[in-house]
Parts: sequence; structure tokens; C-alpha cells
Amino acid sequence: MKKFLSIILLAGTYACHPATEQAGSPATDPVVSPAPANQPGTFTEANGADAATIIARPEVPVLCYHQIREWRATDSRLAKDVVVPPATFRSQMKLLADSGYQTILPDQLYDYLTKGTPLPPKPVMLTFDDGDVDQYNIAYPEMKKYGFKGVFFIMTVSLGRSIYMKTEHVKELSDEGHVIASHTWNHENVTKYKEGDWDKQIRQSCKKLEEITGKPVHYFAYPFGAWNKAAIPELKKQDITAAFQLSTKIDNEDPLYTIRRMIVPGDWSAATMLRVMKKTFKS
Ligand SMILES: [Zn+2]
Repeated sequence: MKKFLSIILLAGTYACHPATEQAGSPATDPVVSPAPANQPGTFTEANGADAATIIARPEVPVLCYHQIREWRATDSRLAKDVVVPPATFRSQMKLLADSGYQTILPDQLYDYLTKGTPLPPKPVMLTFDDGDVDQYNIAYPEMKKYGFKGVFFIMTVSLGRSIYMKTEHVKELSDEGHVIASHTWNHENVTKYKEGDWDKQIRQSCKKLEEITGKPVHYFAYPFGAWNKAAIPELKKQDITAAFQLSTKIDNEDPLYTIRRMIVPGDWSAATMLRVMKKTFKS
């Protein structure tokens, strides 16, 4: 498969973001490769479901968004991969709804993967990383039109900063049925953590979010989508029950900690988004 992922380094007007994640290209190629089926797996703690069973289940489309705002003259071509103009986002939500897709949340995905609990027809998960306030101002009301619920992976150090959500925004999203989850404290790459970082980056960020929402936090998205084998037992120690990456291979032993997502670049039309999503996730 054509190599098409790139690491985006933020610069200029993006300096207030610690970094962004890998983005898919606007090409027609699938952003993730097909899930390997029936690979030998080991048993996980996940209600007795073994890894091979989890991996063999059809993948549910999980979309990943960052900023939802108009492009600026200073936006680089690569930066536009993580900046989706509001009109584009609106058309994507409308097309998902018109096409019969229904949003699901992580608990439903977890039960489906571990127990085979049926999902609604045409399930899709909408996820939002970092905690930009435009997710609250633009994405949230747009999703509301269709009864869509999403997952907001919050980088807690930025709460209340200029372009980020405030705690009351996070609380409202949670109260309205969206899921609030961890995206670390300050977006450092988990593959670089040393002892003590897990407490600072995961436990403390979850605690902060739990204080805001009054609900437990059990889901996590890796900054930059970057993960390694060493991170998984550490996440388990922090009571994280499933973790979301971007588009690298699902781990054969711990598929629940390497659930794949597809970044929707800013220059994809709604039709392109739907076409690539269907091809990528075979949905
Ligand atoms: Zn991020």
C-alpha cells in the first residue's frame, strides 16, 4: 500500500498546540490497512475475549478530528490536514446522517469487541483530540442536529487557555452524553515516558477530568497516535480499559489498546470522507 502518512510538526500559529497527530492524505487510499483476521492471539483480561476474537471482528469506523475552523493564510498545507473548515464538517455530519450512520460511544465499542454485543446498524465513532474550543462551538451543536454523540480526548494542561475549552464546556459535553477521555496532561509522547510520567500524564489527567465531569475516565488516545508495547501495561495500571491510536497496525496481544482511527483531513469533501471511511474500515 502506498505510503502516505506524514508527521506534522506545528509551527507559526500552531505553536499553542504542543503537536498534532499523523494525518491521512487526501488520496483515495485507505488510511489504515485491513485488520489482520484470525491471527493467533493471547487471552486478555477483557471479559475472557481473546485477542484473536477481538481482531477478527469487523472494525468499526472511528474518525478523528482536531480543529474545526476556517483556514488561515498562515496555515501550511500540512497543517490543513488537521484543520477542517466548519462548512466541510457540517456537510460530513449531514452525509453520515443521511447515509444512515449512527454514532456509538466507547462503552458500546468495548462491549462489541469483548462480548460481541450487537451495535446499531452503520455504527461510527466520532472523536476529537486536544480540546480545542471550536470543537465545543462548532462540532458539538452540529452533531446535536443529528443526535450524534462523540468522544473528546482532552489534554488537561490546556483547559481554559485561549483556544481551548474551559472546564464548563467539558462538563456540559459530558452532561449531554458525550464521553470525556484522556489525551494526557501535556501531550507528551507516551513512548518517551519515564517512571513518574505515567502518574503525571495519565492518572492526574484522568483525575482532573473526573473532578470536572463526576464520571470515571477509562479511555485514552495516544498523543501523535504513538504507542509501544511498554505503554500498554502502564495504561492498564491506570485503569484505562481501551486506548485509541491512529493508523498503525493493531497489536496482536492487546487490540483493545491499539484501536485504530482515521484522521479526516481538512480538504476532504463529505463524499471523499465517506468513500475512504468505507474502504478503510470496510463499513
Ligand atoms: Zn493530540
